[in-house]
Amino acid sequence: MLKENYEEVQKKITEACKRAGRNREEVTLIAVSKTKPVEMLSEIYDLGERNFGENKVQELTEKEEVLPKDIHWHMIGHLQRNKVKYIAGKVALIHSVDSLRLAKTISEEAVKHNCEIPILIEVNVAGEESKFGVSVEETLPLIEEIAKLPAIHVEGLMTIAPYVEDPEENRPVFRKLKELSVDIAAKNINNVRMAILSMGMTGDYEVAVEEGATLVRVGTGIFGERDYSKR
Ligand SMILES: *Cc1c(COP(=O)(O)O)cnc(C)c1O
Repeated sequence: MLKENYEEVQKKITEACKRAGRNREEVTLIAVSKTKPVEMLSEIYDLGERNFGENKVQELTEKEEVLPKDIHWHMIGHLQRNKVKYIAGKVALIHSVDSLRLAKTISEEAVKHNCEIPILIEVNVAGEESKFGVSVEETLPLIEEIAKLPAIHVEGLMTIAPYVEDPEENRPVFRKLKELSVDIAAKNINNVRMAILSMGMTGDYEVAVEEGATLVRVGTGIFGERDYSKR
């Protein structure tokens, strides 16, 4: 079942790229494996997947320890400052930076661990109260401050779009994030790149690809529904 799901998602990404006139190589699928056992991750790994996304520090580090070292681990969940030290040097990308305080801690830990940490700024495009992320207006000022910190690099933007029945409803959200990234890129800020747009989940990743996503984060579409009752 995992193989069929995985291949279906890959196929849909390819088709969305075609519709949008984009190269398939511009889009990377992140398999969001939170709550799923390492056996399932291994199965997807064996199909060629090398990017996995987790939203809890402990779960990420436990899986990182036992799975092959060529996996790129993506921290996609809200990150507490006191936990940054556990993932410094282990994550390929932190998607969920939404404050200068958190960015400072990441910078300090990167210096301590003698590594560079690439990050994305999480933007709450739709302004949902229940969501983390900075507002569209706060994004540029935050990036200008983070750009001054050592060993941390802004690589782009991330958003979690609202839960909707019809993915078309999220098209304006994805378009807005893309516009924002183009505007920020035009500022040519030292130490800041806008090469990555992390947007789109199981319900809406095809629309996100059409609107310019370079990373899509798909969990349920690959691994099936999550069961939180056992944890
Ligand atoms: C869980 C999660 C996903 C994947 O969600 P699905 O709807 O299962 O694809 C993507 N992004 C973030 C930030 C998540 O927490």
